[in-house]
Amino acid sequence: MATRQLSRSAADFLPARKTLTALTRAAHDCQGCDLYQRATQTVFGAGSAKARMILVGEQPGDQEDLQGKPFVGPAGRLLDEALRAAGIDRADVYLTNAVKHFKWTPRGKRRLHAKPGSREIAACRPWLSAEIEVIGPDVIVCLGATAAQSLLGPSFRITRQRGELLESPLAHWMLATYHPSAVLRAPDEDRRHRMRDELFADLSVAAKSLSNRL
Ligand code: SF4
Repeated sequence: MATRQLSRSAADFLPARKTLTALTRAAHDCQGCDLYQRATQTVFGAGSAKARMILVGEQPGDQEDLQGKPFVGPAGRLLDEALRAAGIDRADVYLTNAVKHFKWTPRGKRRLHAKPGSREIAACRPWLSAEIEVIGPDVIVCLGATAAQSLLGPSFRITRQRGELLESPLAHWMLATYHPSAVLRAPDEDRRHRMRDELFADLSVAAKSLSNRL
């Protein structure tokens, strides 16, 4: 039983035929880790199956959990702004998260974001791998440390390698930058402005990597 618990993951719920529609439907019933128990619903990725760019966040937030769509809260609005500034149309990208259920702790009537652990990230990775396999993007952008940990490994540090185009077996290029939520949570206005500028610049680098492959 203990072994079964340890090896539990989204892999047990993958459909035989992988299309975005089949994956989305199957992920709805995923019990690959305990996070499904307290979340409203699975928040699967959204966007074009032909997207050349996939952006990967951490996990759905409060609004995403309620609406069932990724990046619809305040962080999503900042991401929209950054995409527009980089000349990227949101309709041309695929947005998803490393973990598909909202992990939270109660604070009074509020649900506060709780960081997913490495076992939850690993348990959910089969969904992310399947999304990448089906779409076959040219560039993957990791938004924040959780996405970078899932796709680039635990030793990757955003503080050291943020904004660098990296070669990867998963796409022609990978790049990691801040999660928009981290920008919004910056401890003071100076830092918030600096992180916002860096996020915008990093997405421009990702956009240029696409135009270089035209
Ligand atoms: S977080 Fe991922 S692995 Fe865990 S139950 Fe949700 S979809 Fe499944």
